[in-house]
Amino acid sequence: MAAAVDGGAPDLAGLLERIAADVAPLIGSGTPAEYIPALAEVDPRHFGMAVADLDGNVHGVGDWRVPFSAQSITKVFALALALAEGGDSLWRRVGREPSGNPFNSLVQLEHENGIPRNPFINAGALVVTDRLQTLTGDASSELLEFLRAESGNPDVSFDAEVAASEHEHGDRNAALAHFMASYGNIDNPVPALLDHYFWQCSIAMSCADLARAGLFLARHGLRADGSRLLTRSEAKQVNAVMLTCGTYDAAGEFAYRVGLPGKSGVGGGIVAVVPGRCALAVWSPGLDSRGNSVAGVAALDRFTTLTGLSVF
Ligand code: GLN
Repeated sequence: MAAAVDGGAPDLAGLLERIAADVAPLIGSGTPAEYIPALAEVDPRHFGMAVADLDGNVHGVGDWRVPFSAQSITKVFALALALAEGGDSLWRRVGREPSGNPFNSLVQLEHENGIPRNPFINAGALVVTDRLQTLTGDASSELLEFLRAESGNPDVSFDAEVAASEHEHGDRNAALAHFMASYGNIDNPVPALLDHYFWQCSIAMSCADLARAGLFLARHGLRADGSRLLTRSEAKQVNAVMLTCGTYDAAGEFAYRVGLPGKSGVGGGIVAVVPGRCALAVWSPGLDSRGNSVAGVAALDRFTTLTGLSVF
């Protein structure tokens, strides 16, 4: 089965059908994110999965072409852009350790003087978006253009309803940003930063779009057009931080079950990378208590178990 990704569409199509059948009993379990009302309205019975090979060919199953709210998955792409544009100095403002706390937690920030544990919890992502804003002058548009280019889909867009819903219920993110600003770890005005962050989180993409967009991490830093975004070493670093921090306080369990760098979002999506081979995306809106898709994690678990493809 390990040949499936390099080998042929028929193999891969069969594999994806099998995974969809295996996880079918889990689809609809868990709960869609309730703290963002626009996400709570999404039908929890969706399931889609896509695999993109290094040349950008994509195969999928279920709702793999249906756009959904990428949410925190965008944090990976924002990090990659901030590193590409601004280099290593970012790491003076954000750490690289798993937090062991929920993605929107405030508790560690005071002990650690306003330096978030990692770029994938909300506090860390706000610092990354702040850096990208300073570097580019328009962080969310820069990110959107990047995602359109890498996915090959010019229709990838912001979702104004989701962005507005987040804004209305954004007190916790506002608290994180203001608190870090009080330590001097935010450069831009907090309201402008929050706008960019909420637009960023609202970007709607399908599994096919996300799998393709994640390929630069499978290609060791090379973009879809062959140009280099990250050095090989930086791509390794981003993958490593995804593995250790990409699924929040469930990163240990995710590594144990899936064995791949992965990044989840509260829209129910997860992107995972098999360096040198392929990128995957899965979507099902029902979340576990840590904010990760129940059926999505199970599908990735089945993928690595059946193919033997993992970083371990
Ligand atoms: N937009 C969400 C938030 O800031 C992203 C969280 C997530 O996907 N884990 O709360």
